[in-house]
Amino acid sequence: MSGFHDVQPDPSAIGRLLKPAFAILPDPPRLFALRAERFGVLAEDSELSPYLRFLAGLTAAQADLAAMLPPATPIPPEQVARARENCMPPLDRAAMAASPSLRHLVTGFLNAVAPLAKPAPAAEGLERLRHAAPEELDEMLGNVMTNSFPVEALPQHLFLSAVAQVHAARLAATLDAARLVPLETGLCPVCGGPPVSSLVVGRQGAEGARYAACAFCGTHWNEVRVKCLACGSTKGVGYKEAEGEGEAATVKAETCDSCRSWIKILYQNKNPSLEAVADDVASLGLDLLMQDTEYRRAGFDPFLIGY
Ligand SMILES: [Zn+2]
Ligand SMILES: [Zn+2]
Repeated sequence: MSGFHDVQPDPSAIGRLLKPAFAILPDPPRLFALRAERFGVLAEDSELSPYLRFLAGLTAAQADLAAMLPPATPIPPEQVARARENCMPPLDRAAMAASPSLRHLVTGFLNAVAPLAKPAPAAEGLERLRHAAPEELDEMLGNVMTNSFPVEALPQHLFLSAVAQVHAARLAATLDAARLVPLETGLCPVCGGPPVSSLVVGRQGAEGARYAACAFCGTHWNEVRVKCLACGSTKGVGYKEAEGEGEAATVKAETCDSCRSWIKILYQNKNPSLEAVADDVASLGLDLLMQDTEYRRAGFDPFLIGY
């Protein structure tokens, strides 16, 4: 008698012990199709219905574009290795702004979204964009890459951001997720952008893990919970939800007393249909509530600028 019991491993316990994957790269057609579907569902019962319906159409056009194109030319391995050595993102946004293949996508995408029902400012913005001189287009694409959307031309930048998202997600999809390394706190390990929101996931093997989501390239990356995604502080992190929702809230504001910023956290483990970008736009009520506090929004959503 050895005194040891023959214990069979419990597969579900092993699943929980596995470290969640650091990065999840996008599958572009699926990413945009799921987002379009979610925008459509959210539009059914919202004060923002017309805008959400427009975004459902816009993201469906992104999905169509992504599905129609052959796989993207991978980011050169030398560039990926160099970025890794220098703690830089492998996707070079500045180079992307000048890319002829992005220019090519812009023309096709603007034609595709022309028939969509859209708010008047978006319709006007699209017309201006379709007649923009090449140098104007260059400047606007440069703005999209640096997340600086000028107030006087928001709709134009929204359309260009949508095209850039497709291009960026296609490039991100060519990478090897296992080769990605964390950059600074709260920065996308693929494109260096800030997160739009973060999600507490419910999928098997990663239950309860938190992933930050990039609205630019569609990558999700693991971040520990109860940590500010703007400054990295783990102290003075709090949670606020829209009035009357209490513990049942599936979207909350994660606030940080160190840098006075906040970012949305979506509890996908409570509602698997939550989507990083669509549910960020649809929960605008929480933004309005947070505007009356001392915290400033740190999440970047190209579809929420101007609100
Ligand atoms: Zn990114
Ligand atoms: Zn902070």
